[in-house]
Amino acid sequence: MAKTVQGIRGMNDVLPADAPRWHFFDSAVQRWAQAYGYSEIRMPILERTELFVRSIGEVTDIVEKEMYTFTDELNGEQLTLRPEGTASCVRAVIEHNLLYPGPQRLWYRGPMFRHERPQKGRYRQFHQIGVEALGYAGPDIDAEHILMCARLWRELGLSGIRLELNSLGSALARSSYREKLVAYLERHAGELDEDSRRRMHSNPLRVLDSKNPAMQALIESAPQLADDLDEESSRAFSGLQASLRAAGVAFSVNPRLVRGLDYYNGTVFEWVTDRLGAQGTVCAGGRYDGLVEQIGGKPAPACGFAMGVERLLALMADGGVAVPDVVVDAYVLRQGEAATAYAEAVAEHFRDAGLAVILHCGGGSFKAQMKKADASGARYAVIVGDDEAQAGVVTVKSLRVEREQVRVSLSEACEIIKIR
Ligand code: ATP
Ligand code: MG
Repeated sequence: MAKTVQGIRGMNDVLPADAPRWHFFDSAVQRWAQAYGYSEIRMPILERTELFVRSIGEVTDIVEKEMYTFTDELNGEQLTLRPEGTASCVRAVIEHNLLYPGPQRLWYRGPMFRHERPQKGRYRQFHQIGVEALGYAGPDIDAEHILMCARLWRELGLSGIRLELNSLGSALARSSYREKLVAYLERHAGELDEDSRRRMHSNPLRVLDSKNPAMQALIESAPQLADDLDEESSRAFSGLQASLRAAGVAFSVNPRLVRGLDYYNGTVFEWVTDRLGAQGTVCAGGRYDGLVEQIGGKPAPACGFAMGVERLLALMADGGVAVPDVVVDAYVLRQGEAATAYAEAVAEHFRDAGLAVILHCGGGSFKAQMKKADASGARYAVIVGDDEAQAGVVTVKSLRVEREQVRVSLSEACEIIKIR
């Protein structure tokens, strides 16, 4: 036998046993996005590398070390498997002129790719749900996004996810803060890890985003952005906080919250849980007012967020959130020559009536088929032999409750099976 070819580390199969949880999640998200008037957009998984370099920023974890980039050998183009969705979404919006008629509320879902060290809650192919609002200046839309998240957690049966907020201010305010921060980091250069020393000048704010435990005390004592906040950002940030208080959404302001991508400004937020160990951020986002212009569109304010589906599913499992089982209404057993084709017609007839039906394949005795019917989880067994085929009827037997089996017409059978 040939040696098996294994899947790629950090890229997971969703097995049939896990599929109901994903379905439950996907349909909850679809309803939720509709409830807020967001339209779905689907972008390709591959983009030109340049798109991510220009939007996410050259000196970021993602662009420096996490992207799956390769040269298309057919035409020499540099391509990258998307590490996130915002850049692609904004690219599509610009390319198709979607902002021409006015602001847009959009959402998307799908796999993202980052070459990280795989561990619980951190994978190389993972899934995000992303929401973007383009053309809205805020802070009303920022409040909408946070309320949306809070509602989704409720609808998924999740609790214990806390909200952290910060404001990164305008580009101008950040540059004056940057000077103070660089001066502080220079004074403590000896205590910085290698990444931070490298970023101290190229991208000092990133140092605050370091996950290295040895750096935390230094980060704690660094000067705070809040002291340099420009008036407009400051007003927007208080406006958002007032809306959240009015809506009863609890939050805490975390002055160290920066976000690992360059395009953010103004309000940023993260939803964090303590129940998933080190990978506790389940959702993150904020404003990125400069990005549309940076990618070549007409300037437009924007904000959005993305959540990690695997982390949310893990949280649902951890919290014991039950998801509905897949329903099989009937398992059709068949034996005999005439019964073979008739059973196909019976199963199709039931499906026309909206029932979920497994039609037995592969032959075998009625006894063996009945075992399969039982194991399938079906509510009813529908038995079709040559007798039934000749008379144009079926025998219906409940597999879940004690009840006499009956020989009835197809339409009567449908009525019986439909009562759930
Ligand atoms: P982290 O700090 O955990 O690396 P991030 O800041 O890189 O997260 P974002 O780019 O903001 O993450 O992505 C939004 C969300 O996507 C994260 O909050 C997380 O829930 C999820 N996510 C990000 N990277 C991964 C990954 N490698 N595996 C699984 N989920 C991920
Ligand atoms: Mg990351």
